[in-house]
Amino acid sequence: MTARPVRMAVVPGDGIGREVVAEVIRLAEALRSAGSLLASWDELDWGADRFLATGRALPPDGFQRLRAFDAILAGAFGDPRVPDAEYMREILFGMRVELDLYINLRPVRCIDERLNPLKHVRASDIDLVIVRENTEGLYCGAGGLVRPNSVHEMALQEMVVTRRCVERIVRAAFEVASTRPRRKVTLVDKGNALRFAGEVWQNTFRQVAVEFPEVMTEHLYADVAAMEMVRDPARFDVIVTENLLGDLLSDLAAMLGGGLGLAASGNINPGQVSMFEPVHGSAPDIAGRGRACPLAAFGAFALLLRHVHRGDLAGVLEAAIGDVVRAGTVTPDLGGTSTTAEVGTAVRERTLERLAA
Ligand code: ATP
Repeated sequence: MTARPVRMAVVPGDGIGREVVAEVIRLAEALRSAGSLLASWDELDWGADRFLATGRALPPDGFQRLRAFDAILAGAFGDPRVPDAEYMREILFGMRVELDLYINLRPVRCIDERLNPLKHVRASDIDLVIVRENTEGLYCGAGGLVRPNSVHEMALQEMVVTRRCVERIVRAAFEVASTRPRRKVTLVDKGNALRFAGEVWQNTFRQVAVEFPEVMTEHLYADVAAMEMVRDPARFDVIVTENLLGDLLSDLAAMLGGGLGLAASGNINPGQVSMFEPVHGSAPDIAGRGRACPLAAFGAFALLLRHVHRGDLAGVLEAAIGDVVRAGTVTPDLGGTSTTAEVGTAVRERTLERLAA
């Protein structure tokens, strides 16, 4: 089979986003030189520097240009010189909306007992995927302020739930579950308090479940789910949920996997250009000091590789990340003394060793 090169847009962004993405690009270069990855990439300078110089964080045809790629690797956005976070929203929300990246995928595994924050479970019990609806819910932007700056000031922040968007995200969750050994999907909502939204989610969930008879199902309210994720994380395999609840639960889940240094996410439209990023922000407090953990960015690259049908390479990279963590080559946030570059080099070398074995 003659494969065509994978075309990637690389948007390192600001702060430690640039530092961790630089390590991923070193790995991609090494894989390309070793003949293991046929890929080309363009680096885009979207972010705070560009915003300060031109007043725009990205070019006017930016999103249009992204459609020419198979996947986007993003770093992080945010800079203390730009107190208004509007430019970050323009980039991140812009990509989600313009490219209709409706699946926010957040896999969480705890790869080493030393990173396990829970005393009563084993690290191997923590292995779940959150599939979060990424386009509507309370984050759809509908609403407004009535009588602003008065004693009668009133905010309306509306929740939008459409059958079409719920159905596609629920189906995506079942598809993810059907590729995993435990084959279980938990619907998390707040249907006891948010009745109308709950009805659409629960009815749609039941309807889509019929198409996947091999997948087990359960339904939990979000407060119970949060409790259960700490009490008994092993009960979860795939969780599907709406935008705000997914935002909250996926940060809780990230801590079960060892924290922000390791958490990666995909913003996906299946078969279309999709975006992969570490969950953490630009962390101005540690930027430029060689202390940023690049493992979340490597994890994001592994998700990107799966999206472009290189699951084989993604598996090798994930195994290499596990080796490096178990060997204790980690940055201070994970209890080690290594620098960003040292961790990056270790992951690169271990990946190449595993490929050569
Ligand atoms: P945001 O508001 O987008 O979440 P932030 O910069 O305020 O961004 P994060 O960067 O997500 O917050 O993380 C909070 C803190 O966690 C950082 O200030 C930093 O100390 C630590 N941290 C985050 N990511 C990493 C990382 N990759 N390596 C080491 N420490 C990190």
